[in-house]
Amino acid sequence: MTNRAVFIDRDGTMAKDVPYCRRPEDFELFPNTAKAIRMLNQHGFKVIVITNQSGIGRGYFTEDTLGKIHQKMKDELAKQGAYVDDIYYCPHHPDDGCDCRKPGTKLPLQAARKHQLDLKNSFMVGDMEMDIGMGIESIFCICYCWGVNKIFNDYNMLWVVLQFCNKEM
Ligand SMILES: [Mg+2]
Ligand SMILES: [Zn+2]
Repeated sequence: MTNRAVFIDRDGTMAKDVPYCRRPEDFELFPNTAKAIRMLNQHGFKVIVITNQSGIGRGYFTEDTLGKIHQKMKDELAKQGAYVDDIYYCPHHPDDGCDCRKPGTKLPLQAARKHQLDLKNSFMVGDMEMDIGMGIESIFCICYCWGVNKIFNDYNMLWVVLQFCNKEM
C-alpha cells in the first residue's frame, strides 16, 4: 500500500454539473480541471474519479453512454497533458440501498486494492457533503468539500490541489 491518491468527484467538481448528463456533447470540464489534474499526475498522486450516476438506475441513460462521456473526459484531459488513473461509478438508484453510492465506501476501497493505495495519506475532493461523507467514515486523511452552489468550483479544485502539492497559487 504505497501510493497516495486524490479521489475526485466528477459533476460540479471536475465538470459542469449537468443533472443526469446523458450526452457527451453536454459534458464540459471546467477550465482549470486539466491543470489541477496534471499537477497531481506530476506529483505522483493516483487520480481516481468517484461518481454517483443514478441516471443509469433511473433509466435515463445507459452504461454505454456513460462510457462515451468518460471517453470524452479522458480525451479532453489528454489534449492538455493530464490523465486520470481510474474512474469508478455507482449506477444505482438511491433507493436500491447499494453500498457503492457515495457516501458508501465500497468504490474507494476497491480502488485501494487495485492501485495499492495508502488511504490514510490520500484525499477526497468534492462539491457535496456526500463526497466527504466517505471521509467521515475515516478512511481518508483529509477531505475537502466546498458546499453546494458555490460559483467558483473550478478555482476551488485548483486551490485544493495546490495545497496537496505545496505550491503557491
Ligand atoms: Mg458533485
Ligand atoms: Zn451503487
